[in-house]
Amino acid sequence: MSLTAALLAPACRAKPSSTGLRVIVIGAGLAGLAAAQRLQEQGHLVTVLEGRDRLGGRTWTSQAWPDLPLDLGAGWIHGLDGNPITALARRSGARLATTSLDNSLVYGPNGQPLDESQQAQLDVLSDRLVAMVATAAEQAGNDLSLQDLVARSFPDHSLTKGQGDQLAYLINSLYEQEHGASAGRLSARWLDADQAYGGSDALLVPGYSAVVQALAQGLTIQTGQRVTQVHWDGATAQGGVKVVCGARAGESSPVHQADRVVITVPLGVLKAGSLQFEPPLPAAKQDAISRIGMGTLNKCCLRFARPFWPASVDWFGQIAAKAGEWGEWVSLSGPLRQPVLIGFQAGQNAETLEAWSDQRLVASAMASLRRLYGPGIPDPTGVQVSRWRSDPFCLGSYSFNAAGSTPSLRDALAQPLAQRLFFAGEATNTSAFGTTHGAYLSGLRAAAQLQSTGSIAA
Ligand SMILES: Cc1cc2nc3c(=O)[nH]c(=O)nc-3n(C[C@H](O)[C@H](O)[C@H](O)COP(=O)(O)OP(=O)(O)OC[C@H]3O[C@@H](n4cnc5c(N)ncnc54)[C@H](O)[C@@H]3O)c2cc1C
Repeated sequence: MSLTAALLAPACRAKPSSTGLRVIVIGAGLAGLAAAQRLQEQGHLVTVLEGRDRLGGRTWTSQAWPDLPLDLGAGWIHGLDGNPITALARRSGARLATTSLDNSLVYGPNGQPLDESQQAQLDVLSDRLVAMVATAAEQAGNDLSLQDLVARSFPDHSLTKGQGDQLAYLINSLYEQEHGASAGRLSARWLDADQAYGGSDALLVPGYSAVVQALAQGLTIQTGQRVTQVHWDGATAQGGVKVVCGARAGESSPVHQADRVVITVPLGVLKAGSLQFEPPLPAAKQDAISRIGMGTLNKCCLRFARPFWPASVDWFGQIAAKAGEWGEWVSLSGPLRQPVLIGFQAGQNAETLEAWSDQRLVASAMASLRRLYGPGIPDPTGVQVSRWRSDPFCLGSYSFNAAGSTPSLRDALAQPLAQRLFFAGEATNTSAFGTTHGAYLSGLRAAAQLQSTGSIAA
């Protein structure tokens, strides 16, 4: 049985018993909810502490448009075949709507769709770039960034201005958008180190909250509990763990005791050090926290009265004058029958634009869309924008393999400590980081590690 299959096998159900441990799970995203469900099934007394006033973490279905639940975090199930999120979504009754990257249209710098020969040129360049990355993945030796790899393989003088623009577009569309990081920060060696499921990509019609609600059923979850300290060196009489939360105005800090703790806070939170460990985390874990990258991907969702773009196309690319700015759009007209365009920003660009007001963002997005569809297109009737880097409960969108890092750092991040602390979350998943299924499976893995420690350690 593969590791994934083993993790997904139903846990043997047990009633809470005298050997059941008191377990605290920190974080009610998919990793935390998966771990909590599995541990509760195994008979442990589980409490989930969540800092926000909502569940789901980096899956966040906004209900601001009552007739259109909108995912401002994760939107897609990437690869329906064998993906555990597909099974969860189906069990929750959520309808799925597929999209296809093949159903796309790319616009040139002149604002016109690429003609056949321009598209053929782009395809040739794309194949060259992808082959170059594949070769870099096979080469041992010192890592370099994707930007350095490209500079080495495509010296400036070897490209025309048009080819340079196309290359910048491809780097953004194929890699920066996927990993949420600029080419200068991405590892060339480990760029494609994640594994993908087969089958179509699909959106959940009611949003990811359907999966979150299903996973949260029957769990004891306390929201508004921002954990600030974890004392893990035998801090209780039974040698357990003490978890301290931030105090609300006029109240003292809530303190929780447990035999085991599962930590699922995002890598961005661990990097910031706002969650303190006593004693401090060992050097190997601190090294992993500092060297794995935390990227940013943001969505700017614009709702219109009706589509003014080709409504049957899912994805729009734009070879823009300023690479990466409004380079990638998805349309919800096809999959959800809604006249909504979502513009994506990734990496440094996303971080810079987080400081912009909604008004300035929309003006910039509309200027870009008017280049493609003419000055007469209407302003949006509604706008929703994400700012994941500024969000104190994640401080970024998802992790990426940074130049100079190695996948083994993720194993170090996942390593349990003293049979008391267990770690889950997308960043701890070596083969499926940055995804909902990676987060979910990491929660099941941490639950299995905890279960294997047996009863209370002295
Ligand atoms: C814009 C965007 C688009 C994405 N698109 C996709 C996609 O299409 N498909 C896909 O598969 N994945 C996508 N992802 C990635 C996916 O959302 C994440 O990998 C996954 O949801 C992470 O789950 P997690 O449980 O590891 O972390 P989280 O969901 O972040 O859960 C951690 C929880 O810990 C809580 N927390 C943090 N600090 C504290 C504290 N001190 N005390 C208590 N609680 C705390 C947080 O509030 C959060 O609820 C996207 C992410 C973003 C941001």
